[in-house]
Amino acid sequence: MLITCPYCGPRDVIEFTYQGDGNRERPDPASQNFEAWNAYVYDRLNPAGDHNEIWQHSGGCRTHLRVVRNTLTHEISSVAFVRGDHASGARRKAEDRS
Ligand SMILES: [Zn+2]
Repeated sequence: MLITCPYCGPRDVIEFTYQGDGNRERPDPASQNFEAWNAYVYDRLNPAGDHNEIWQHSGGCRTHLRVVRNTLTHEISSVAFVRGDHASGARRKAEDRS
C-alpha cells in the first residue's frame, strides 16, 4: 500500500504509523461526562468502506496526515494535513520573507 505524503510524494506504508480513527472528537478536558470520555477512549467505527484515519509519516517528514482509506480495497481517496492550514501557513511565511 502506498500513501502519498503531500511533502514527500508516494511512499510505502512501512514509513507510516497509524495514529488512530480520524472521526473521534475529544471531549472538553474539564468535562466529567464519563459517557463521553468512555466513548472517546473505547468506541471505534469499523466501516466496510471509506474510513477517516490519522497517519504519521514517521519514517519521513513526521507530518500527521488525515487519510481516507477504503477498508475493503485499501484504496486511498484523500490525503491531507491534519492541520488544514499547515501548508498555507508555511506558504504564507515563505511569502512574508520575500
Ligand atoms: Zn512526508
